[in-house]
Amino acid sequence: MKDFQTKKKFGQNFITDKNLLSAIVSDAEICENDEVLEIGPGMGTLTEEISKHAKRVISYEIDNDLKPILLGKDLKNVEFRFQDIMNVSLREIEGSFVGEYKIVANLPYYITTPILFKFIGQSERVKSITVMVQKEVAERMIAKEGGKDYGVLSIGIAACGQAHITRNVSRIMFNPAPNVDSAVVRIDIYNKYNLDLKEFHNFVKNIFNMRRKTLLNNLAQSYGKNRGELEQIFGKKVLARRAESFSVDEIVELYKKFSEK
Ligand code: SAM
Repeated sequence: MKDFQTKKKFGQNFITDKNLLSAIVSDAEICENDEVLEIGPGMGTLTEEISKHAKRVISYEIDNDLKPILLGKDLKNVEFRFQDIMNVSLREIEGSFVGEYKIVANLPYYITTPILFKFIGQSERVKSITVMVQKEVAERMIAKEGGKDYGVLSIGIAACGQAHITRNVSRIMFNPAPNVDSAVVRIDIYNKYNLDLKEFHNFVKNIFNMRRKTLLNNLAQSYGKNRGELEQIFGKKVLARRAESFSVDEIVELYKKFSEK
């Protein structure tokens, strides 16, 4: 990585191993007709691999210092945009794609969850999201009810598709090596429950607001409803449970009951 000093503040841990790069693109199942959004191309190693398989790639990079390296690659089907992805509206991003698109990214760790939630439950045109994230986040993304990893992220993902870990990646594969191991997760997106996902997401955030408290406490606090009103909707037994004890199917049922009232 001559001539470039990586920046910790932008989560710059780069991958150069050709086998790993090609494995990530294969995990993402990128085909010749696919339009792809990449977030954080870094030195462009993953971008280059994606561009070999996709029809077109749009890639957002926050760090202007990477401009000479990325533009110097002269990749014909890739457009680099030097902007903070969090400051670009979904409308603007999606305006550049003809149809549905796939996301592939080795995400900066410091901002993984906000980036995921920028698309999950918000976009109707993302077909799949394949991301390298730190292992702990990967565990949270695929967690099931009952455990400490289960929460707003797992439920948000489960409500809009199916996620699985496609591979574990050791920290030594990165340059510089981070303090944690990573994993690649692919989320295939479809509106499984036919929900208004934005409203559902708000409901989930509210019932997990105080994790150790019961459904009754969280709903009363978030929506200003009294015990009597809530008991009429859900019954006493259900209200005494914590959000983390409900499966995603059950939370969808709770949400439907609540929004019907
Ligand atoms: N894709 C490259 C690779 O696999 O080697 C780099 C991955 S590195 C973990 C994350 C990249 O995201 C860095 O290049 C960093 O500058 C960029 N980045 C960080 N925050 C960003 C943001 N808010 N918007 C766009 N790019 C960002």
